[in-house]
Amino acid sequence: MFKAEANIDYRPLANLLVPMPWNRGRLVMIGDTVAATTPHLASGAGIGIESGIVLADELSANDTLQAALDKFHARRWERCRLVVENSARLCHIEINDGDRQEHSKIMGQSLAALAQPI
Ligand SMILES: Cc1cc2nc3c(=O)[nH]c(=O)nc-3n(C[C@H](O)[C@H](O)[C@H](O)COP(=O)(O)OP(=O)(O)OC[C@H]3O[C@@H](n4cnc5c(N)ncnc54)[C@H](O)[C@@H]3O)c2cc1C
Repeated sequence: MFKAEANIDYRPLANLLVPMPWNRGRLVMIGDTVAATTPHLASGAGIGIESGIVLADELSANDTLQAALDKFHARRWERCRLVVENSARLCHIEINDGDRQEHSKIMGQSLAALAQPI
């Protein structure tokens, strides 16, 4: 229930896409810490969870850590980049009352890409 004295946590929309590699030795970062997105594709948690699945997949399928990490990085970059960058573009269009056709096109392309297997 709303309380008049409750704080409103207002912060500007922000994103982050850390260049790969996302590991230092055996420590691997996934989720918002390396690929944080504005909410326009509602996929921030989605790509973080996917990264966990792909990392486990590659660790179990490869004999060396480096081989697993190379394949993990190769599988994750384009999908995370797409979410972060396309969300940012949708955000820009919405804030600036921009081109609705471009918005629909980016949204459609993004959802089609995200429907593909990881
Ligand atoms: C309002 C809102 C709506 C959203 N809706 C969606 C949606 O519909 N779909 C979607 O896919 N995504 C959505 N997201 C994005 C999603 O919540 C994030 O992308 C996701 O939670 C990131 O997961 P994470 O595990 O990387 O980070 P987090 O969920 O932030 O988890 C990090 C954890 O680490 C803990 N931590 C931090 N520092 C330390 C420390 N030093 N020691 C120990 N623990 C620490 C934190 O307390 C936290 O529990 C939404 C986000 C918000 C804010």
